[in-house]
Amino acid sequence: MENGAVSSERMNFMNDSIHGLLGFIEKSPTCFHAVEQVRQTLLSNGFTELQEAKPWDLQPGKNYFVTRNQSSLIALRLPAGKAEAFRIVASHSDSPTFKIKENPEKESAGCIQLNTERYGGMLCASWFDRPLSIAGRVVIRTDSGKIQSRLVCCPRDLVLIPNLAIHMNRAVNEGYAYNPQTDMLPLYGGAGAKGTFLKEIAQVAGVDADAILCSDLFLYNRMKGTVWGAQNEFLCAPRLDDLECAYTSLCAFLSEGDCPDVPVYALFDNEEVGSGTKQGADSSFLETVLRRVIFSASDASAAVCAQERFCTALATSFMVSADNAHAVHPNHPDKTDPTNPVYLNGGVVVKFNANQKYTTDAVSGAIFQEICRRAGAPCQTFVNRSDIAGGSTLGNISNSHVSLNTVDIGLPQLAMHSCYETAGVQDVDAMIRALTAFYHTKIETLADGSYRLS
Ligand code: ZN
Repeated sequence: MENGAVSSERMNFMNDSIHGLLGFIEKSPTCFHAVEQVRQTLLSNGFTELQEAKPWDLQPGKNYFVTRNQSSLIALRLPAGKAEAFRIVASHSDSPTFKIKENPEKESAGCIQLNTERYGGMLCASWFDRPLSIAGRVVIRTDSGKIQSRLVCCPRDLVLIPNLAIHMNRAVNEGYAYNPQTDMLPLYGGAGAKGTFLKEIAQVAGVDADAILCSDLFLYNRMKGTVWGAQNEFLCAPRLDDLECAYTSLCAFLSEGDCPDVPVYALFDNEEVGSGTKQGADSSFLETVLRRVIFSASDASAAVCAQERFCTALATSFMVSADNAHAVHPNHPDKTDPTNPVYLNGGVVVKFNANQKYTTDAVSGAIFQEICRRAGAPCQTFVNRSDIAGGSTLGNISNSHVSLNTVDIGLPQLAMHSCYETAGVQDVDAMIRALTAFYHTKIETLADGSYRLS
């Protein structure tokens, strides 16, 4: 083997996990499809699906999950005994894209365009001149009079956003502010395509066009993920932020072995637009689920006791907020903090921010990095340059509802919010290893500020 640092056994594992990751991303063109992928994986692993709108009768030793809005999901594995504390990994299901507006067909220059608006903050330039298609969900009226949501994904190259020729915009390479209303509308068809868009979607959904009552439809990049580089050290795919964390945390969550606490897998929608929705990290979803787990194990007369148990459970729980991080860009190393460079294939990134946009503090950073050290999972640290305002993510928003020790981590990547992002092949393995250890390591809270790992 040419790369002596990597055993053939490890290489096989990496190939499996990379193959699994790229397959997961390909089948997840939207947040709805990502949640459905996770849902199907959990069902095939024997998990029971719960409904928020119905009473829960949770049994010790059983595994459950629940979705909200079909775009967020929380799964948990209950212990044989009482649930005492939670071990949570949270990531997000959404990515920046363009949402199809109501009445989307627009005529221009003998063609039909689709009217769209931006969802999240994308790198606009990456969306030009590549085959795109449309996916999401439609809500239909069924023959029996029900109103029902159905996922749709147009399985062919269907639209494209053509650039303007350089001859007509000579200054484009000196920096150009793309106007989402005039520069970014995708081309759907010639004049003959007029009036066909809804029919196209209806055909994919398997219904008549007049059965569609409303829709949440988005553009998605048709390009498949790939592994590349001189030694196959890089991978590219759409939506690595944050499906790379969604997938690797699912692998860790489903790993075999005893877990000292209740392992929780959380996948939230709407991180890219601030999380402030009924299903986002800034909602009641996580808090409600955790509360129901504790309370369902208590009879009604013991409600006060259950409240006490809920408080002690949170005080001894631990959360990982997993969202991708910026690696040093080889063309722009000056954009990175001078003493905390993050590299592709350098391992799991632990993120710090003095103003607590990232939740990591000395306690959560110490505990998580010690777990990684013991598991042989490489770690690196990220802090923004002091003169660059960074982004924020799930952890601190979720903490305003469910307050517990939390660390912000991610996988290093380049071109965040491009519609085709770049990451390191070896980091996938590092993340699965780190999060598997996180779920399986016992973290004892001895007192505030005092902990023991075993
Ligand atoms: Zn993200």
